[in-house]
Amino acid sequence: MSAPATKSASARPAPVEQAKSPPPYLPLTRPTIDEETIAGVADVLRSGWITSGPNVKLLEAKLSDYCGGRPVRVFNSGTCTMEIALRLAGVGPGDEVITTPLSWVATSNVVLEVGARPVFVDIDPITRNLDLNRVEAAITPATRAILPVDLAGLPVDRDRLYAIARQHRLRVVEDAAQSMGSTWNGQRIGATGDFVSFSFHPNKNITTIEGGCLVMNDEREAKLAEQYRLQGVVRTGFDGMEVELVGGKFNLTDVAARVGLGQLPHLDAFNAKRRELARVYFQLLNAPAVRALGLQLPVADFSQSNWHMFQVVLPEARLAIRRAAVMAELHAAGIGTGVHYPAIHLFALYRRLGWKEGDFPLAEHTCRNLLTLPLFPTMTRAEVQRVVDTLAAILSAHQQP
Ligand SMILES: *Cc1c(COP(=O)(O)O)cnc(C)c1O
Repeated sequence: MSAPATKSASARPAPVEQAKSPPPYLPLTRPTIDEETIAGVADVLRSGWITSGPNVKLLEAKLSDYCGGRPVRVFNSGTCTMEIALRLAGVGPGDEVITTPLSWVATSNVVLEVGARPVFVDIDPITRNLDLNRVEAAITPATRAILPVDLAGLPVDRDRLYAIARQHRLRVVEDAAQSMGSTWNGQRIGATGDFVSFSFHPNKNITTIEGGCLVMNDEREAKLAEQYRLQGVVRTGFDGMEVELVGGKFNLTDVAARVGLGQLPHLDAFNAKRRELARVYFQLLNAPAVRALGLQLPVADFSQSNWHMFQVVLPEARLAIRRAAVMAELHAAGIGTGVHYPAIHLFALYRRLGWKEGDFPLAEHTCRNLLTLPLFPTMTRAEVQRVVDTLAAILSAHQQP
């Protein structure tokens, strides 16, 4: 620790030998927003049209281009996109939706929101995604859809997923909140499939501050999505207005859309940088002395994942301290980490609905020990080194006796 700064009334010459200041705090993640985008946002603010308008239309067109020409609409979150997809799929009360217990709680909250029941299946502990081998056993006559998540950007096997969906006539809502720019068999996530939902939260690979988009199958679905987006309203001519369904208030502002327009051209470069840093993590974490500490690394996928996050599983049985203490020590050393995520079925709301400890043991073990390390496009190799060195030192100091 460095000595606390003191203020002296008498101006003295600086000492010749400066105390080495600690490196700046390394956050878990941070968005990269260029000056051109900031200037563009200022232009929108001055333009007199700040809510949904031309920038929203333009962003939708660019996202559609990115997704192979499929219809895309933007919304003010990557949560309402999934809720709307479920409504478009006709999912409602009495229906079941198969999903994973290892995700941001939005994934299953939207199922409850439309009045349906989430049906969790356990994860594959290697990919940490929903285990497709367990999906068919969970299908009942009430099953209407599968809602998979590409955790950390690692894509769920789309061939198997859609083979199961086709065979059982199920809709698919891909929670691709984390996998924009990931690919499956050389095709971008979003360019194929049924409904595909992306999030533009600041932690995601590109941002609109808050926001998201939904990729759909045809213009009929896109028109319906526009109704769900804004009070169910359909306008015709100068004064025609009709309302036929209950919509919400889910539109994205033009200010936010302008941020997205400044981000999208950088997506592939951002992801390339993430991939390069992930490689450095593997290189350092695979050094024999670090490997011996027993961390479980993510799948070393350098062709399909967008490396939204770099997550390790702590060696619970060998450690004398819990995850929170590891995080506290990293924080004290100036390194931010995160937990993505606690197991959904163990939240109070879900326990009240009948789930309990032991229902999904693989997800529970992973969720208890999963630790997200810093990874973002402007991070440096030296910072990756600092994270690995600090984490290794903490783990070696707290081995189970
Ligand atoms: C971020 C995220 C969401 C929700 O996105 P918001 O834009 O925050 O509403 C949903 N699912 C997953 C897996 C996410 O990471």
